[in-house]
Amino acid sequence: MKRILITGGAGFIGSHLCTRLINEGHDVICLDSYFTGSKENVQHLMTNPHFELVRYDVTNPYYAEVDEIYNLACPASPIHYQYDAVKTVKTSVMGAINMLTLGRQVNAKVLQASTSEVYGDPIVHPQTEDYWGNVNPIGIRSCYDEGKRCAETLFMDYHRQKKLRIKIIRIFNTYGPNMHPHDGRVVSNFIVQALKNEDIALYGDGSQTRSFQYVDDLIEGMIRMMNTEDDFIGPVNIGNPHEFTIKELAEKVVALTGSKSKFIFKPLPYDDPKQRQPNISLAKEKLNWQPTIQLEEGLIKTIDYFRKIVI
Ligand code: NAD
Ligand code: UDP
Repeated sequence: MKRILITGGAGFIGSHLCTRLINEGHDVICLDSYFTGSKENVQHLMTNPHFELVRYDVTNPYYAEVDEIYNLACPASPIHYQYDAVKTVKTSVMGAINMLTLGRQVNAKVLQASTSEVYGDPIVHPQTEDYWGNVNPIGIRSCYDEGKRCAETLFMDYHRQKKLRIKIIRIFNTYGPNMHPHDGRVVSNFIVQALKNEDIALYGDGSQTRSFQYVDDLIEGMIRMMNTEDDFIGPVNIGNPHEFTIKELAEKVVALTGSKSKFIFKPLPYDDPKQRQPNISLAKEKLNWQPTIQLEEGLIKTIDYFRKIVI
């Protein structure tokens, strides 16, 4: 049994990670400011004596004797990370420093939940980990992209300079139950609109692409990464390489919900990446991991979840 700290544990991905690690018999501390996460996401764990929920902002130093730290705290949807852009940078950068410092104090291994956004609007396609990206440093997505890039830098420097044990994963678009119905991301938006028979809003002409990963696959990859030998630190892409246009996603959601929704088109947000697909050769080789849940199966599970919470 390990003592594990999960920052951002009450969010979408964090709540699945808490559940999985508790089910494996570990002691879990879930740290969250509830900016985008909620107690409801982890309510089912509250009576478990191995689970502790702490309201805390990772921009402040934190101390607890733990063996492993998963650093997930950071808003992930463009609407939320742009709401207070300065705070987003602080969360990424100061949160990373605080968790790396804690890692040093208690000799814990620290895993950073980085993102495909470090590749920006990628020119190399599919994206491999050795690609340095095409990121606008002064745009409206920069608070998130550059915050996450700086966090990766800090992780690498703590490893090189202070010999800390670290792991970096770059997560590609992930969806599933516990996504906030109004968090503005494309999968949740389309499902909620479809279930309510409202217009489905495609930004731009819907020809931009993303590769969607079901959350259970991500959690498996994340835990495998944490458990690798100390000499493998990443970064490693964790995503599903099946690439879809946003219009194809909308069509699938409509078909699977039996919705009467119509498509409407809204302006494409500034700096919206045109294409995104992970090359997962490294994850296959080092983690013996690849996604097992394809889009239709994952969407059915996610739609079931939203049917229960969307009025
Ligand atoms: P989410 O918004 O549901 O979860 C983020 C959690 O962090 C929330 O519970 C939020 O309240 C908490 N948080 C935010 N700022 C905080 C702060 N200052 N102190 C403490 N807690 C704070 O998003 P998610 O999709 O679950 O993303 C989790 C992590 O995975 C993020 O770091 C995100 O960048 C990364 N990621 C997610 C995706 C994706 O597709 N979902 C893709 C790439 C990377
Ligand atoms: N998008 C859309 N309609 C929506 C929400 C998003 O067409 O209601 C588009 C968005 O412009 C982007 C893609 O879907 O091209 C994925 O958006 P999301 O915010 O989910 O993730 P990210 O852009 O961070 O990959």
